[in-house]
Amino acid sequence: MRIVTPTGDPVRTASANEIRQPDRWQTAMKQAIRDPAELCRLLQLPPACVEAAVAAAADFPLFVPREFVAKMTPGDPHDPLLLQTLPVLRELDSPQGFTDDPVGDEAATLTPGLLQKYAGRALLVTTGACAVHCRYCFRRHFPYTEVPSGVAAWREAVEALAADESIYEVLLSGGDPLTLADATLAQLAEQLAAIPHLRRIRVHSRLPIMIPQRINEELLAWLTGTRLTAIVVIHANHPRELERPVLAAIERLSQAGVMVLNQAVLLAGINDDVDVLAELSERLTDHRVQPYYLHQLDRVKGAAHFEVSRERGTELIRQLRTRLPGYAVPRYVEEIAGEPNKTIIA
Ligand SMILES: *Cc1c(COP(=O)(O)O)cnc(C)c1O
Ligand code: SF4
Repeated sequence: MRIVTPTGDPVRTASANEIRQPDRWQTAMKQAIRDPAELCRLLQLPPACVEAAVAAAADFPLFVPREFVAKMTPGDPHDPLLLQTLPVLRELDSPQGFTDDPVGDEAATLTPGLLQKYAGRALLVTTGACAVHCRYCFRRHFPYTEVPSGVAAWREAVEALAADESIYEVLLSGGDPLTLADATLAQLAEQLAAIPHLRRIRVHSRLPIMIPQRINEELLAWLTGTRLTAIVVIHANHPRELERPVLAAIERLSQAGVMVLNQAVLLAGINDDVDVLAELSERLTDHRVQPYYLHQLDRVKGAAHFEVSRERGTELIRQLRTRLPGYAVPRYVEEIAGEPNKTIIA
């Protein structure tokens, strides 16, 4: 929004600021916190926090934008946003059953970076970069450096999509596709739109939550300027992730005509609580985001301490159903390698 005063000077409103500074989301990425000591100091956590984080971050480093850290409560080691991002010693436990590739990505690879597990839908791993390193991530051991990124590198994947008329929806995933430049994404969207049997493009991203200024005019231009129906799946796990200016970013998406869905992961100590899940669904629904999936944790090595039992998860969903309209209750699902769809638990 650009307001012109009678003297002709543009007055920058807060939202104009976000949109008119194309650099800002990239700057936020550059300025993200990578040093456990800095994170613990900013949040006034004890020195033991630093030692643990340094030890646990060795194979999956800390990475969290300052915008997200600003939402955390100083002095609270159990803050639900902190727990998603701070490396802790329990990541070094490796109980049986927790592996490097829990969801069978390797077996589902069609061409480098292109995965197909389900009929009609193919997933393109567009980049290894993310706007945050989520400690529960099932791709924490993914060989990202081997992932081709950029329009030239995607040629083989685009050709495979063009050759398979059964595929109608392409998911852009990663990593996080919105860490890529809009010019690159616009070219990809154009190539996909030129494939007649494709109908929809679905973007999975945590950037609307982590760095809401990412939802800028350049992004909306390619996302809504294509003949493909655009869907954005945001990933919020806790209602406190959904405050201004995140809500304003989500509104920009839906006002532009993009369908917005949310996927959460059921995480011990973060959202394994009926009040938290109910408030998450209420806030999403209030802002026209459909609570799509609540995922059972994928059993990736390093994330065992986040696991909630299926029995507890099922009970939480049962309680949610007594409190919310049916459309606001997410489907509680898990991914079982080799199954033809995500498996509904409740
Ligand atoms: C989860 C997933 C999808 C999408 O599944 P939906 O049930 O359509 O949301 C597609 N491809 C892969 C490889 C996936 O892991
Ligand atoms: S943004 Fe997604 S891919 Fe990246 S670390 Fe988080 S859960 Fe994993």
